[in-house]
Amino acid sequence: MQTSRRNFLTAASLSTIGLVTAASTVGSLIPGIASATGSPLDGGSAPEELEDFIYDIENGAKGWVGEGGSAKEATVEEFPLSQSIAGVSMHLQPGAFRELHWHSIAAEWAYVLEGQVRTTIISPDGTTSTDDFEVGDVWYFPKGHGHMLQCLGDKPCHFLIGFDSGHFSEFGTFSITDWVSHTSPEILARNTGLPAAFFAQLPKKELYIGMGKVATEPRPKNINPAIPFGTSSHKFRMERDGIYNEFKGGSTKLVSSLEFPIQNTLTALRMNIEPGAIRELHWHPNADEWQYVMSGSGKVSIFGSHGRVKTMPYSKGMVAFIKQGYGHYIENTGTETLKLIVLFNSPVYQELSLNDWLNANSPQLVADHFGMSLEQASSLARHNTGVF
Ligand code: MN
Ligand code: MN
Repeated sequence: MQTSRRNFLTAASLSTIGLVTAASTVGSLIPGIASATGSPLDGGSAPEELEDFIYDIENGAKGWVGEGGSAKEATVEEFPLSQSIAGVSMHLQPGAFRELHWHSIAAEWAYVLEGQVRTTIISPDGTTSTDDFEVGDVWYFPKGHGHMLQCLGDKPCHFLIGFDSGHFSEFGTFSITDWVSHTSPEILARNTGLPAAFFAQLPKKELYIGMGKVATEPRPKNINPAIPFGTSSHKFRMERDGIYNEFKGGSTKLVSSLEFPIQNTLTALRMNIEPGAIRELHWHPNADEWQYVMSGSGKVSIFGSHGRVKTMPYSKGMVAFIKQGYGHYIENTGTETLKLIVLFNSPVYQELSLNDWLNANSPQLVADHFGMSLEQASSLARHNTGVF
C-alpha cells in the first residue's frame, strides 16, 4: 500500500470523526474515573489516532532520474512521521558519480545492495580517504564532511542511504557545482588559479549525478601527497563482520558504535525473518526505529498507549518508522524471507522484550494481571530476543 497525501487526508478526517465520538462518550462519565476502555490518566480528552507509519520510497512521488542514475527520497516532506531518520534509494550507472557535496545537518550512512561503490571523503582532521564497497558493506560520513560516491566497475550499483535527520534534504545538502556556478568568476579565478572565463561559462545549476570515465583502477593509496591519507575508518563490512545472532525463525546482524566507532549517531541491524515467523513483541527505550524492506513482505504492528494499536502491511522497497518507546512486532506474511535493513538513531542498541519483562516478575503477579492460572504464568515463553 502506498501512503499518499490523499491517504493522510482520509486518515485525518476519520480521526476527527473518532475524536468527536470519543469526546461525547467521555463527557457522560465522571472526569478522572476510568471507563472500561479508557485510562484514568486521559483527563477526559481522547488521544490522537496513530498515524500511518509505512511509506513506499521506491514508488514515491519525489525523485531524481537522469542518464547517470536515480534517487528516491523519504524525508519529512514525503514521510512526516519520520522526523529523526530519512532515506534515499540511489542507483548509479557505470561511469556515474554523485558529485562532491556535504550535508550540513545530517550524517550519512549507507548499505550497498548491488554492485560496487567507491567513495572519497575529506575530514576536518586534515586527512582524506578513498574506500571501495561491495554488497553488504556500509559507510558512515559524519555531518558536514565533504564526500563523493562513484559507481565502480562496469556494472550498475544500488545502495540505500540513511540520514540521522528526517530534514536532511531541504536546505541541507551542499553541492560543489551549485556553489561554484553561483560564485563570482573573478573570485574563483583568484581562489583556484584557473581563468575567470572558464567559470563564467559554467551552467548555473547543480550537477547532482554526473557521467565520467568508468572507474576500474585499483583504489588509490594517496591521491595528493599534500593531504594525508586516513585509515578506512568510514567503512564497515556489515554482512561479514556484523554481530551475528541466529534464532529459530530468522537471524540478525548488528553494527553499533562499539564495532564501528565513527558510526556514533546510528545503530544498524540486518534482519531476516523466515516465512511464518514473527519478530517478538518488544520496544526500544533509547531510539526511533526506521526499516527498509530489501525483499519479501510482512506486517508491522505498533502499540502507542491509550488502547491504540495499528497494523500496516509492507513489502520490498517500502520503509517503516516506529517512534521511540512504542511497542511493536513484525510478521512475515509472505512466502520468501523478509529481509530488512533497520536503523536506530542511537550509537548503541537497546531493546526490551515483552517475554523478558513477564518472566522478570513473579508468576503470581503475572497471573493476577490477566486472570490466568499459575501454571500458565509459569510456562510463558522465555526470552528469545528475536525471531521465532
Ligand atoms: Mn551524501
Ligand atoms: Mn524493533
